[in-house]
Amino acid sequence: MRSILIMLTTLLFLGSCAHKKNVGQESNGEGWLILKGARLIDGMGGIPRDNVNIVLKDDRIQSILDPKEALPPRAKVLELEGKTVIPALMSSHIHLGMTKGVDVGSRNISAENDLSQLYKFSKYGVGAVLSLGTDGDEIYKIRADSQRSDSSLPRVLTAGRGFGVPNGAPPMDMGIDHVYRPRTVAEARKQLKDLLAKQPDVIKIWVDDFHGKMKKKMDPAIYKALIKDAHANKVPVAAHVYYLQDAKLLVQAGVDILAHSVRDQDVDLELASLMKTKNVAYIPTLSVDESQFIYEKKHTWMDEPFFQGALDAGVMSWLQTSYKANPAARESLSQAQKNVMTLYKAGIVIGLGTDSGANQARIQGFSEHREMELLVDAGIEPLEVLRMATVNNANILGLTKDYAGIQPKMKANLIVLDADPSEDIRNTQKINTVFINGRIIERH
Ligand SMILES: [Zn+2]
Repeated sequence: MRSILIMLTTLLFLGSCAHKKNVGQESNGEGWLILKGARLIDGMGGIPRDNVNIVLKDDRIQSILDPKEALPPRAKVLELEGKTVIPALMSSHIHLGMTKGVDVGSRNISAENDLSQLYKFSKYGVGAVLSLGTDGDEIYKIRADSQRSDSSLPRVLTAGRGFGVPNGAPPMDMGIDHVYRPRTVAEARKQLKDLLAKQPDVIKIWVDDFHGKMKKKMDPAIYKALIKDAHANKVPVAAHVYYLQDAKLLVQAGVDILAHSVRDQDVDLELASLMKTKNVAYIPTLSVDESQFIYEKKHTWMDEPFFQGALDAGVMSWLQTSYKANPAARESLSQAQKNVMTLYKAGIVIGLGTDSGANQARIQGFSEHREMELLVDAGIEPLEVLRMATVNNANILGLTKDYAGIQPKMKANLIVLDADPSEDIRNTQKINTVFINGRIIERH
């Protein structure tokens, strides 16, 4: 009891005044902080390690020590007995700034709105995000700032403006204005040249007809040219997909990331072996499909602060009064869950992404945790799902130098949980403390 009280006092002290300053400096520990006695899940898929001391120095992890190894002197100590530490999550498919309350559209994008959404990600333990193809130019400064070692926000990667189709995907009624819609190969190449000047991290393309609603999908000649030019500039390409046939053509054309699940039919050996040979990553975004029907009914978790805390003003009542379920999405979700399991067993690199922020029912912060539940529900072990959400995403995003789980030299982006998610993945929602760049994030 006494140690719990001391710990609470310490956390309150740190939480109340340290979120703008480095915790170590704050504590007179000369930048050193020890997370003492926790269970560690390092994000690399191994079994949890008990009674570990994680030593942080400023914004980085310095060492992982056993109880008998000597601790650095003068360091601040945070007693974490009974807690579990996991790496901060990463989300490889989100959209920033598009929603404001219940309103959706590029008109809502501003530095201020992007930053407030990024802060929400921090509070929910998301330490890196890839915003996939809907950003305005405000994103480039935000991205640069997110790389500072004193940032309290997730590391930001962006595809800048994505590539869609005139009168086609992404549907105009989604309110996505910041998208190129080339009519010819020449136009696409010119637009890509403009975009590359801004140094996007990824190029995003939409290849879908939205259940036949759009007359035309992107001409393969256009995406082939975009992939070729992007690769010549060493920039990977991520594709919105739905159909198996498109996925195969895109992988053959050299796409690097399938940014949604194949949902029209079972994936087959041909796709799996193509993806494997070409080292293509798969971001299943199961929560996209679920978000289209799940709010039809009230669920007990909708009353919990973890869910409600992620909602913008007005969204709860919108969900209860104006939300329209798409019954076909249930089938899409089952198909997506079946396909992710097949590709996982075939050894494809799978990363966590959610499409959160694309509309008001895709709830940022909450969706990233919900996605892990859906992946476990698909049949994947919690420790593997945690790897998808952390180390796999670092691989996919080219961030392994800084974010490859909890090990020495990596950024101190961690979540302290009150319970172990390897026993129940929903325990990732029992967040005690979030560290971004070694700083405690104020969560209330
Ligand atoms: Zn998206």
